[in-house]
Amino acid sequence: MSCEICEGYGFVQEDGGPLGIPQAVPCECRVEKDLNLQAERSWAGLSNLSAKKKTPLSKFLWKNSIVVGEKDNLATHLRTALWLERRPNRFVKVVSDATLMSAWLNNLSSSNREIYDPDFIRDVRASSLEDLVESPSLLIVRLGVKGARNSAMSEVLTEAVSLRDHSSKPMWIVTEPDRPLEEGHLCWSRALQDSISHWDTVPLIKGYTKNNQGNSQPSGKKRYNL
Ligand SMILES: [Zn+2]
Repeated sequence: MSCEICEGYGFVQEDGGPLGIPQAVPCECRVEKDLNLQAERSWAGLSNLSAKKKTPLSKFLWKNSIVVGEKDNLATHLRTALWLERRPNRFVKVVSDATLMSAWLNNLSSSNREIYDPDFIRDVRASSLEDLVESPSLLIVRLGVKGARNSAMSEVLTEAVSLRDHSSKPMWIVTEPDRPLEEGHLCWSRALQDSISHWDTVPLIKGYTKNNQGNSQPSGKKRYNL
């Protein structure tokens, strides 16, 4: 069924182009189609969710942030933020700590070293950590997916942070509400904490007080002190 506004062309003419010449602008139907593609490309299945009216993530889309939330919650908020942002040509990518680790291990495996990590996904599509980490406009790393302890995990995450920083591109680190990124977390290290200490924390869970305004602290237990 083709669109009533553009009759399926995907573009409409609008006055006010350069030198007074009417210009073709993408029709709303085209923009929404592209937004769905963007969502799906960022996280398989994301385009099936419907966007809500607003999300705190909108303000943090292009800023380094620590996002605290569960998987489903993150998905809905991200879908909403991208939908409201309406910039479908921005490449946003959600990866897990396990994927990050596998990409890093890929570098090792291509040098024929033995891999001892049970979470290693040999056919991960990114050929290296650099490939995976550097291309997106926004990289989102979900922690807590990787199950097996690998002492290099924190090092890999810290390297990802530094690669993003080097290319001046934003990154989110997403933590589970009950597994704060602090000492004892699979991914935590002093070096990582130092490199993300100035990042904002964006809680997605109810009853969680924001801790991104300088001195204000979350109510109750101080769990996110990065
Ligand atoms: Zn249309």
